[in-house]
Parts: sequence; structure tokens; C-alpha cells
Amino acid sequence: MPDEFLTRLRRFHTDSFPAYQTTFENLVHDGQRPSTLFIGCSDSRVLPYLLTGAGPGELFLVRNVGGFVPPFDGSSGYHGTAAAIEYATLNLGVQRIVVCGHSHCGAIRGLYGETCEEAHHLKAWLNLGRDAMLPVAEPSPEALRRTEQRAVILQLERLMDYPMVRRRVEERRLTLHGWHYVIEDGQVDVFDVQSGHFIPASKSLHSGTGPYVDPPADAGEQAVAPQVP
Ligand SMILES: [Zn+2]
Repeated sequence: MPDEFLTRLRRFHTDSFPAYQTTFENLVHDGQRPSTLFIGCSDSRVLPYLLTGAGPGELFLVRNVGGFVPPFDGSSGYHGTAAAIEYATLNLGVQRIVVCGHSHCGAIRGLYGETCEEAHHLKAWLNLGRDAMLPVAEPSPEALRRTEQRAVILQLERLMDYPMVRRRVEERRLTLHGWHYVIEDGQVDVFDVQSGHFIPASKSLHSGTGPYVDPPADAGEQAVAPQVP
């Protein structure tokens, strides 16, 4: 049986890499300076580079089941996603954090169903989406869509509990963006804090906002979070 991935690795080196060689050499020589931390679901149908048209060195990626952000609680354990958020903001100085959910997300559907007994970590991990759930026993496709979008906003709110994120957002050195990718339409809906809704990127005037109204420069108080759809 042929080793398909060996064939692909060889093909990458001979066919694809030469076009990018100089770019990668520069990224090694100068180091990476990604503009964006992209937090998305591990789902194989979500392709951040394809969606954004980004090239090498542009996106610092964190992917996990559901595209969730754990709380900044400093509790014991290994926090890969939290570590990546800290590294991206403190070391790499990203200017943008995207949280990208998507249609037909297994993690969101999993919130409403049974989790395999053996999957201890998965069961605990899904708790990070529970506050986005709607009070329905058997969710309709529309309820799942709304839960997926509410989960994006929930993760953005949790990001604001990271002191280094909040500080940079308040200093306007960092922007937060909520996205919901509809796989079958090739459409990304972006969260708009003014309307409290997700708007198709084709109709939006911006690439998404965080869950907070950007306060005027001299306003001391944070604006009120909008109604979550
Ligand atoms: Zn997913």
C-alpha cells in the first residue's frame, strides 16, 4: 500500500516550496511577526489560511474543539490555549484576535447530547461553551446556529478577562473580532457590536468587533455589553 503522505511531503518539497523559499528564509532570518491570533475550531472543514487569504507568517493559530477560550483563572493544569493567548499578545504583539466559530460544529452539537464516558477531558472542555446554550432539549438547526454564534461572543468575553488582552484592547493596540463561518455557503458572518448581530462579511463595513462598544477616548467607564442574539 503506497504511503500517501510520503508522496505529499516529497511533492511539497519539490513542487510547492520553491515558490515560498525566499519568504520562509526571511521569516527565519527576521523572525515571525504575525498580525493576528486566530482561535478556531479544530474542525477539518475550517481552513483559516483559505478564508483569510493569509500567507506564511501572518496567522498565529490556536485550534481546539469548539474554538473555546478557557477562563483566565490561573488554576493548576496544562493550559495550551491560555499559554498561546499570552504568547501571542505579550511576545508576538499581535494586533488582532479572531475567534472563529462555524456551522455544523460538533462541539456545539455535543453540548446538547451525551459525551462518550471515556472522554473525560472532552466532557470538561465542553463546559466552556455551556453558557451559550439555549433552553431547548432537542435543538433545531436554527438553535444550533444561534448557539454557535453565542459561543463566539462568550469566548470573546472570556478573552477580556485576560489582563494582557484587556489592557491592549483598552489602549487600542489590539482589536477583537468574532466570526461565524458558514461552511456550505463559503460565507463568514462577522459580529457587529452596534447591532448585536452577526452580519455577512459581504454586507459588513468591518471585519467584526468584540463584544464591547468601543468607548470614547476620554470615557472612564466601559460601555454596556449588547444584547446577545
Ligand atoms: Zn467545530
